Amino acid sequence: MKNVMYISFLVVILYSCGNKQNEGIEESEAKENDTSSVVVETPVSKYIECFGVVDIPPNQIFEIYAKANGYIADVKVLEGQHVNKGETLLEIESPEFAILQKEYKSAKANFDWHKQNVERNRILFSNKAISEKEIQTIEKEFEVAQANYMGLREQIKAIGFDSEKVLSSISNKLNITSKIHGVVVILNAKNGSRVSSENHLLTVIDKSHIHMEMKISANDIQKIQLNQAFFILHNSDTIRGKIHLINDIVNDDNTVRVHGHFDQAADEKKLIVGQNYFVNIIP
Ligand SMILES: [Zn+2]
Repeated sequence: MKNVMYISFLVVILYSCGNKQNEGIEESEAKENDTSSVVVETPVSKYIECFGVVDIPPNQIFEIYAKANGYIADVKVLEGQHVNKGETLLEIESPEFAILQKEYKSAKANFDWHKQNVERNRILFSNKAISEKEIQTIEKEFEVAQANYMGLREQIKAIGFDSEKVLSSISNKLNITSKIHGVVVILNAKNGSRVSSENHLLTVIDKSHIHMEMKISANDIQKIQLNQAFFILHNSDTIRGKIHLINDIVNDDNTVRVHGHFDQAADEKKLIVGQNYFVNIIP
């Protein structure tokens, strides 16, 4: 009887302990449920978020090459400098180009002489003052001179120079000029350094149109429409814009490229090409 009482007492203790353990588990489970419900309550961003980079269209980027072998005689600009269309960026001393320039000038003079000569002799021939054979020889010489002059003119144009300027220039230095009004962003030239025609010397960009290139997750792309508003935070400013183009292809990283324009031209001036931003698109 004493044993029975002892066993039942032990059972009661074990049972109550077991109960406490269960309660403990239930409590911790309840706590876990509490935390998960807190996560759900955290406000989810109402914006579609993505990364974007400040960019300019490729037709506003001008890369400038040396065009001829030689030496840099004078670098006239600095990185970050604004330049005007036609402004000289640097000068190259090129013995090779000096020879071409000389040949071109003498070919032009030769062509001019033959032109006058053929015109004069055509009159003489019409007056039967010279023979057919004579005029044929003169015409042939004129054609050779013309072909030589035109060939050199095309050669000068092909390497990117104004053939008229080359003709009138007394200097044998090559002037590398800017084709646009823009900003020098890359400068790979030092006075005195040797260059060859394929050397990239400068890059000038036209900042008249700046846009935001965004990479939007393919899962979010259905929520994006043309003219939808977006904003970025730049220092203490909020810069706003609108979606302008949505690409039709999903990239390898499962994003779609979306192109946005800024609302205010004044805001564009604050931005640097290549700068990365966190973009919020307003649904
Ligand atoms: Zn654009």
